[in-house]
Amino acid sequence: MKFGFDIDDTLINLREHAFHIYNQKLNLNVGLEVFRELKTVEIHEAFGLDKEEGGKMWSNLLEEIYFTDCPAYEGAIEFLNKLENEGHEIYYITSRPKQYCSQTRQWIKEKGFPVKDDHFYCGMQDHEKTDIIKKLNLDYYFDDKPAVLETLEDVSTKVFVKDQSYNQLVGNQRVYNWTYFSIKY
Ligand SMILES: [Mg+2]
Repeated sequence: MKFGFDIDDTLINLREHAFHIYNQKLNLNVGLEVFRELKTVEIHEAFGLDKEEGGKMWSNLLEEIYFTDCPAYEGAIEFLNKLENEGHEIYYITSRPKQYCSQTRQWIKEKGFPVKDDHFYCGMQDHEKTDIIKKLNLDYYFDDKPAVLETLEDVSTKVFVKDQSYNQLVGNQRVYNWTYFSIKY
């Protein structure tokens, strides 16, 4: 079977990692309970920043957010390695900006995710993900972002949503915790 995965906030806890970095940089101590209530993918509201200030903060800190010690979700690395060991094909499809693609591929390898260099797609716009998913003819695809998930309603790929506070209204099957997640294939 062919499995495709988004990376940020599907396999790794990037927003929460960024949330800690924002607290440090702004010298604040906004609690995780605020984080858990956010209904947007963007996190700036929790710090009283508007869209523009939030956008600047995110781009200025992007490299630090991406390449420091962001944790994978519990069980994610193990789940993907199990698939790999069972002989399934694993693809990564991330819309991280082009200039960070090769470093990202290296970073997730070092983290312990099974990565084949030609199974790594990066640097596309959200809507272009759908084209890649269709072209690859994936059996399964996992993502967290409503804007992406909404474009996947008519594909034959089985789509799973990594459960997050901002994607409660998207109606696909959910992954709550990678450790306890299993599918029949
Ligand atoms: Mg994501």
